[in-house]
Amino acid sequence: GAVADTLLYLDGVSVSFDGFRALNSLSLVLAPGEMRAVIGPNGAGKTTMMDVITGKTRPDTGRVVFRADTDLTKLDEPAIAQLGIGRKFQKPTVFEPHTVWDNLLLALAGDRRPGFTLRARETAEERARIESILRTIRLSDHRARRGGDLSHGQKQWLEIGMLLAQEPELLLVDEPVAGMTDAETEQTAELLREINRTRSVVVVEHDMAFVRALGVKVTVLHEGSVLSEGTIDHVSEDPRVIEVYLGR
Ligand code: ADP
Repeated sequence: GAVADTLLYLDGVSVSFDGFRALNSLSLVLAPGEMRAVIGPNGAGKTTMMDVITGKTRPDTGRVVFRADTDLTKLDEPAIAQLGIGRKFQKPTVFEPHTVWDNLLLALAGDRRPGFTLRARETAEERARIESILRTIRLSDHRARRGGDLSHGQKQWLEIGMLLAQEPELLLVDEPVAGMTDAETEQTAELLREINRTRSVVVVEHDMAFVRALGVKVTVLHEGSVLSEGTIDHVSEDPRVIEVYLGR
């Protein structure tokens, strides 16, 4: 059926805050391996949607089904993260006094080796894994720099790298290119496409040039439900979308 070959299925999810409907029977289907861009005006419910997926907010009604068989609405945040759903911005951010390498090592080994400190030598397997993540996040040449000395864009990539260390099956990314230069924005689109070869991704973003560069299916949220869905060309020509973005 509809649910069987989905990675993530939001089924009529509603959330109210003091009587205000932040999500209004929101339904969304993400296929395994898919990357989806979610856009929408301020207050459309994008953050609340991410919060519902990660278990930070519990829906009043509806279900969030992961891998066709797990109802996330019955689980707490740590259990959902454990299942393989990672969200950028939720984990502690970059450790500024530590090098790029050590940040990744902490992300990689910290969780898996109780009592791990940077004094301990990384294993060959951990080294190989860090090298691979460094290539993905374009920081191979910056491994010895302190987190605090990176550009804003590079810090964002390092955070994505720290998330990759946990091997999530689904990556949720909140406004990754806010504050980035045009060149960094372009590279971020490339980087996410590369990550998407092995992982599913949901990315919330305002930057239309970036969303276009991603080249993936777009979901437009408005007043807590789906207003339009399809290619960036399809949704940007949709009269309902034009009205919401221009008619306010
Ligand atoms: P977006 O991320 O698309 O800008 P949000 O999901 O942050 O939208 O917010 C949707 C609506 O819900 C907004 O009107 C916001 O003010 C409201 N809202 C979100 N979180 C809370 C909360 N914890 N308490 C009260 N209202 C909230």
